[in-house]
Amino acid sequence: MKILLVSGHRPGHNLCKATGVDEGSLNVELVRSLLPLLSPCAQVGVYPYERDMYQDNKNGCLKVSLKDYRYIFEVHFNAGGGRGTSVQLHSGYRGGISVEQAIVDNVSALGFKKRGDNGIVRRSDLLNMNTALRLGIDYALIEVCFYDSAADLALYRQKRQETAHAIAKGIIDKFGLKAGDADSSSDQTEGRSAVVTGCSFLNVRRTPNGAVLGTVKGGTALKILGTGKDPEEDIWYRVTAGSLTGYVWPKYVR
Ligand SMILES: [Zn+2]
Repeated sequence: MKILLVSGHRPGHNLCKATGVDEGSLNVELVRSLLPLLSPCAQVGVYPYERDMYQDNKNGCLKVSLKDYRYIFEVHFNAGGGRGTSVQLHSGYRGGISVEQAIVDNVSALGFKKRGDNGIVRRSDLLNMNTALRLGIDYALIEVCFYDSAADLALYRQKRQETAHAIAKGIIDKFGLKAGDADSSSDQTEGRSAVVTGCSFLNVRRTPNGAVLGTVKGGTALKILGTGKDPEEDIWYRVTAGSLTGYVWPKYVR
C-alpha cells in the first residue's frame, strides 16, 4: 500500500510567540518520526519538507502525483486557545473511519483530550482534503495537539515518540499492514546473475518505468541487485549491466 505523509507547513512557519515554537518544525519532526515506523509495512512517500503542499496545490504546482497514493496523511498542530487532539475528515467522505478513530484513540490515550465527535472533526473547507476527495483518495489530517498551549506542548515533548507510535499503530493495525509488505530488498532474485534474452535491445531505466539511461544488447550478462515497483505496482529488476545501473523489465531477463 502506498501512503503519502505530508507535513502541514514549511519549517519556521506559524511561530507561536508564547511558546516560542513554530508549527512547521513540529510537523516536519513528527513526519520524520512516522517515516521509519510505517516504511517496513508500506511504500511511504513524503511530500517535500521544504514545500507547503497547500500552497503548491493552490498554485497548481503539486510536487507529487497524488493519484499514485492510496492514503494521504497530513500532520498539523493546532492553535487558537484550545487543548487536545483531533483527526479531521471531509464532511463528504463516506468511507470507513476505523483507521482515524484508532489514531485519535491511541493519541488521546497518551493524555490528550479528544475534540469533536469522539476525536473526529468533519470539515469541507480545506483545499488538500477537497482535492483528495475529488480524486477518490482516502485522506486524513491530524491536529496532534495545541502548540500554543504550554500544557499540551509539554505533554507532547514528553511523549513525542509515543505519539508517533500511536499514529503509526492506528494506520498499521486498521489497514491490516504487515512488516515486510514493502520490503523488496529481501526478494530472492537479489544478487543473482542473469542474461538479457528475448529481445535485441533492453532499456535500462533510472527508476521503475522511468527515464531511459541506456540500452543493453540481447545476450548481455547482468547482475540483479534487487527489485522496485512502478506506480502500477508492477515489479522491475534493479540491475547492473556493464557501466549501467538501473531498472529493467523482468520479462527479458533470465
Ligand atoms: Zn497547520
